[in-house]
Amino acid sequence: MGNKLFTEILENAPANEPERQFYFIEQIKALLDVKKGEGYEAKAMVTVIGCQMSAKDGEKLQGILQEAGYSITEKEEEADVILFTTCTVRENANQKLYGRIGQLKHLYQRNKDLIIGITGCMMQEKDEVETIQRKYPYVHLIFGTHNIYKLAEYLLETMLSKEKKVELLEDSAEIVENLPSKRKYSFRAAVNISFGCNNFCTYCIVPYVRGREKSRDSQEILKECEALVADGVKEIMLLGQNVNSYGLDKKEECSFPELLAKIAKLPGLKRLRFMTPNPKDFSDELLQVMKENENICNHIHLPLQSGSTAILKRMNRHYSKESYMALVKKIREVLPDVSLTTDIIVGFPGETEEDFQDTMEVVAYSKFDSAFTFQYSKRTGTPAAKWEAVPEDVVKERFQRLLEHIRLHSEEREGRDLGKVMEVLVEEKDKESENMLTGRLSNNVLVHFEGGERLIGEIVPVRLDKSMGFYYYGSVL
Ligand code: SAH
Ligand code: SF4
Repeated sequence: MGNKLFTEILENAPANEPERQFYFIEQIKALLDVKKGEGYEAKAMVTVIGCQMSAKDGEKLQGILQEAGYSITEKEEEADVILFTTCTVRENANQKLYGRIGQLKHLYQRNKDLIIGITGCMMQEKDEVETIQRKYPYVHLIFGTHNIYKLAEYLLETMLSKEKKVELLEDSAEIVENLPSKRKYSFRAAVNISFGCNNFCTYCIVPYVRGREKSRDSQEILKECEALVADGVKEIMLLGQNVNSYGLDKKEECSFPELLAKIAKLPGLKRLRFMTPNPKDFSDELLQVMKENENICNHIHLPLQSGSTAILKRMNRHYSKESYMALVKKIREVLPDVSLTTDIIVGFPGETEEDFQDTMEVVAYSKFDSAFTFQYSKRTGTPAAKWEAVPEDVVKERFQRLLEHIRLHSEEREGRDLGKVMEVLVEEKDKESENMLTGRLSNNVLVHFEGGERLIGEIVPVRLDKSMGFYYYGSVL
């Protein structure tokens, strides 16, 4: 019965996107209206595992669900639909998903109408999908990174047929624009500028699970940013695996610095950030655009990965210890107040103590404000997975030494703005103490201060009274 109905609905569906998905959204809405009349609450929950890209995917799923008539809940016990966006960049991200879906078994046993769906990077890996199908039969919906926009179509089919739906694509043929997206914060938004990656760093799974690099049309990006500002957004974060190669896949597209300058000039946009620029093609032009536009935030996340030229070569990163240090020097000359953060991998196959010392040297030289440090995680299918691993105890010991070293050298720049009055974008109520708020400086450093909830989403002047290392206590003027 359900299948027949779905076939009929399918026959009348428009072929073009996004019209097709809006048609399915309307169909779900009509179905939910009937069910709501019978007491169905139509609640959905989206759980994000992973990076900002994954979070942005989560917002897209939420936008579609809400447009289709679901209300969003944070409690899985009351949800009728539970969706996950996943991460597979390191093994512990995979384990996190398995933990979460394992816990949902008892909910499904109580409510056989519960629809559990998984999308995102981890679903682009055949072995993981097989494991989920074998071990977690109550997962009904599996789709990948290239067809996230088709949620409404898949969800309707699952609702009507009660059968499993698994659809995975190798790469995306097109970028589908203008589908709904629900922002987590009213005052802050992430905007994709490109999808996928062409760099193939030898440790990294991203190019395999996100496909080849595809830049969005700059006009579409500008339109989206403009609409966000009109909707009250104060801060936009531009997202791409390597923002510096934006536009290179398209004949007549502008470069990343040009795009950044155009967005920075949108009237009313208070703050503009971007992530991630690869050191291999970080241009002087980009630094100039950052210098000339006050609303571009004073923060650069510049992933180092390793400080050893030999390791960087085997990582396929296309820069050296010396060229990275020269870039840091240039950045600090042009933007003396900039805050620099980084990513570092410890224990890449073949890493010797000497290689590790090179990483320590670059850390001492660069004085990062903070660093995300990772122990190398073997990803099946990447070239490095076949190379001989560094013993675990050696990796762990180097990792500890690196953490200590980063802390020591970040201290040299900590507290440098003490006593100054700086603009803070107020983000939320302080999790620890009553009557306190948490906000962020342009350079991404956190500030805690006393204030009322009504300041959330506003940019306010705050005097930085006390340095606590990587954050401040301050007072609103
Ligand atoms: N495109 C971004 C990185 C995205 S992945 C860039 O090039 O900077 C985020 C971070 O995860 C990477 O910077 C790297 O430090 C880490 N990472 C990626 N693959 C990893 C692996 N196999 N093991 C450990 N860390 C890894
Ligand atoms: Fe992975 Fe390298 Fe692409 Fe970043 S640039 S996503 S680390 S392959």
